Amino acid sequence: MMLQVRRTEKLSLVGQMAAGMAHELRNPLTIISGFLQLSQKQAGSASYLGMMSSEVSRMNEIISDFLLLSKPVNSRFDRHHLMPLLQETLELFENQCRDAGVRVILEEEGKVPEIDCDFNQLKQVFINMVKNSIEAMPEGGQLQITLSVLTKHRVQIRLSDQGSGIDPEDLARIGEPFFTTKDNGTGLGLMVSNKIIENHSGKLNISSRPGIGTTIDVILPIEIKTT
Ligand code: ADP
Ligand code: MG
Repeated sequence: MMLQVRRTEKLSLVGQMAAGMAHELRNPLTIISGFLQLSQKQAGSASYLGMMSSEVSRMNEIISDFLLLSKPVNSRFDRHHLMPLLQETLELFENQCRDAGVRVILEEEGKVPEIDCDFNQLKQVFINMVKNSIEAMPEGGQLQITLSVLTKHRVQIRLSDQGSGIDPEDLARIGEPFFTTKDNGTGLGLMVSNKIIENHSGKLNISSRPGIGTTIDVILPIEIKTT
């Protein structure tokens, strides 16, 4: 499985050029965003400048996600408990949850062992998913995250939200590059997440009921065999 993942990571020449271009675009964008912030300060509350700023930061997000996808991931696998990883992830969203009226419940079922993982990459996966759940509940709601042992060799992290849910025809398109239903989305978050999970020899299952909510299961092996 790992071999298969590595094989698809070799980039075509066009892919390499696109990645190079994305990388080069970052510097001018950083400069533009710096001057925009400066102009905003001088002009007081100028909404056009604010809009430009948020579009520039969206461009930055697209480029970061694109670069993550185009580069082969050099994972560093160590043994980590997932509870602290999930707690750290949720800390990043404390303010956003409070503002949106989202209540998060994090639970560990039984005693879940440490797993082989790249801590930062896996954290990125849950950042993407928690962000999606919060964005799907603009009127508030509950996000339940449950960590459990699935089988002798695998653990599961289940994220269940009470958000908008995903229409069946949209569900089929998830994972397509740039597929988003949001005005300010990049449509790359789940692709990046999926790539990281595959690199961990794991699996991602999404099930959703429009108007009721979405459940995402991330299934990961406790040990990754490297041979
Ligand atoms: P983005 O968030 O930038 O749109 P993602 O790859 O993270 O890109 O998600 C792609 C699409 O999947 C979203 O635009 C949304 O339509 C749908 N989606 C993902 N997670 C959820 C969720 N928890 N609830 C409802 N829709 C979701
Ligand atoms: Mg997203």
